[in-house]
Amino acid sequence: MQTAELREALAGIALREHAPMAAFTTLRLGGPADLLAEPASPEELRRCLTAARAAGVPVTVIGRGSNLLVRDGGIRGLVIRTTGMKGLRLSGSRIEAQAGATLYEAARLAAHEGLAGLAFAAGIPGTVGGGVLMNAGAYGGELCQVTERVEGFSLSGEPFAYAGTEMGFGYRTSRLQREDGIVTAVTFALTPGEPAAIEAQMAELQRRRVEKQPLNQPSAGSTFKRPEGYFAAALIDQCGLKGFTLGGAAVSEKHAGFLVNLGGTAADFEALMAEVSRIVKEKTGVTLEPEVRILGEPAV
Ligand SMILES: Cc1cc2nc3c(=O)[nH]c(=O)nc-3n(C[C@H](O)[C@H](O)[C@H](O)COP(=O)(O)OP(=O)(O)OC[C@H]3O[C@@H](n4cnc5c(N)ncnc54)[C@H](O)[C@@H]3O)c2cc1C
Repeated sequence: MQTAELREALAGIALREHAPMAAFTTLRLGGPADLLAEPASPEELRRCLTAARAAGVPVTVIGRGSNLLVRDGGIRGLVIRTTGMKGLRLSGSRIEAQAGATLYEAARLAAHEGLAGLAFAAGIPGTVGGGVLMNAGAYGGELCQVTERVEGFSLSGEPFAYAGTEMGFGYRTSRLQREDGIVTAVTFALTPGEPAAIEAQMAELQRRRVEKQPLNQPSAGSTFKRPEGYFAAALIDQCGLKGFTLGGAAVSEKHAGFLVNLGGTAADFEALMAEVSRIVKEKTGVTLEPEVRILGEPAV
């Protein structure tokens, strides 16, 4: 690719060449991105899109990489990491968040200001943008319940703005997964609550996470979606797969829904996902669908 041309067009924006994606994902897996840009504003992000298009270079957007398996060969083209755009603004009972703000920061601000509705999201280790794309959720809450407006750009740099009701939200999905839209800002509409009660709810949910989830091992959270009428973790456990290891990847001993990286490769992890799915299908008849988003190319 024309890295030199692209670098020149992106002067002033934080850039890294051959950026190891393992450093930008919670799974700690993945080969290099040709070029990684960290725009500090929507204007800079738009410049990235325009320049990549002009250079004929493919674009991939990431947030905190907490739902990603990047393959060992890395990602060709330009990876745009949104974490430099992290502004949060309070406006009455609304929070306007830039895409790279963390869900934790947004939930903390809401609790501090006595606004209820985001406590469930405090322990989800992603950004607002990645969260909305995934319609992230936990403990009965989902971002679609509080998302009023979503702004962003198409891959060609055209701005869009959708009401929450136009987002095509479903279980761990939104229209942006089908249209490749890039979120730059989200407005959350919240309701008045007691700061102390919201803080207590957040603390209780965090306690439950620490108790149930292998938070001290690299993972991307739940590897598979919940199949209709079942729980992926229960099915995997029922097949006797807790602790099952393939190369440097394993089914967590603590929570069978979490596949963890023991220091292996993305190929190990993908092979484990395939093997777990195969065994679960064979023994229970249920098809597991990945929740984790897989990006990039295998090692050559
Ligand atoms: C320990 C642990 C616990 C977790 N618990 C939960 C949980 O309880 N509930 C839950 O739903 N998830 C959970 N997750 C998964 C993950 O945190 C969420 O899916 C999160 O919303 C991903 O956000 P991210 O910024 O890390 O996105 P990334 O992983 O960087 O990207 C995920 C997807 O979103 C896209 N994307 C990222 N930013 C943007 C943007 N600005 N515009 C458009 N597309 C974008 C990427 O291209 C990719 O397809 C957990 C993960 C871990 C590691």
